[in-house]
Amino acid sequence: KPTHHPALVVKNLSKSFGGVNAINDVSLTLDTGRSRVMIGPNGAGKSTLFNLITGEIPLDEGEVYIFGEDVTKAPVQRRGELDLARTYQISNLFHELTVEENLYLALQGKSWELSHILSSFTSWFKNKDRLNRVRTVAESVALKENLGTLVSNLSHGEQRQLELGMALAPDPKIILFDEPMAGLSPNERIFMKKLIARLASEKIILAIEHDMDFALSLTNDVTVLHGGAVIAEGTPDEIKQNEDVRTIYKLQNA
Ligand code: ADP
Ligand code: MG
Repeated sequence: KPTHHPALVVKNLSKSFGGVNAINDVSLTLDTGRSRVMIGPNGAGKSTLFNLITGEIPLDEGEVYIFGEDVTKAPVQRRGELDLARTYQISNLFHELTVEENLYLALQGKSWELSHILSSFTSWFKNKDRLNRVRTVAESVALKENLGTLVSNLSHGEQRQLELGMALAPDPKIILFDEPMAGLSPNERIFMKKLIARLASEKIILAIEHDMDFALSLTNDVTVLHGGAVIAEGTPDEIKQNEDVRTIYKLQNA
């Protein structure tokens, strides 16, 4: 893979659900070695944009490239092979399995079909390399002491850390974070912010997150999505001063 290609290119993407224009002609580039934060009010189309980038839902128009490869029509799996991973706004964990088991499954990629799960359990004890990798990932999200804990017995903050671990397990280069700090307590937020800021030195991150302090700790590149379109791009300071952005957020809070 030639390195002069940007990590991710989204070109003139559009997507409607029935009459709703959820994404309208959105273009976006993630350069290698740079992260970006995306903000925008509820319903702006942020999660939909992620679903289009990963291929979880089909696009109507536009193109997507990962490290130069045209993946516009490629399945989710291919995009994973090209080192793209994501976290979810809504929990995507197996609650009746342990931390270790969840991470082990995440190593198999993002294919959650039953046959896949069964075959990975059959080979569970055979693959030392995978178990070592699971431990390394657990350590990187501060869950090494919780490997044998059922997900349902983890705190909310620990569950979000595990979700981060699930995305990290296949060692991706690009990670899309969908509101990683949602629902966290102030202390958990501080912890998660540090965890993600540390990751940003090794990974290319596109994070949906409203906290401007978070944005500042991660990057100078902020994109604002509103009504399915990019309405502003700039540094966190520029975004804070932007009149359109201020108006939108005032309307939201009114
Ligand atoms: P955000 O993540 O910015 O809050 P979403 O991407 O979830 O926004 O939603 C953008 C718009 O698309 C909303 O109007 C939402 O109702 C609509 N939408 C999202 N997913 C679907 C779907 N699967 N079917 C129908 N409408 C959807
Ligand atoms: Mg969303």
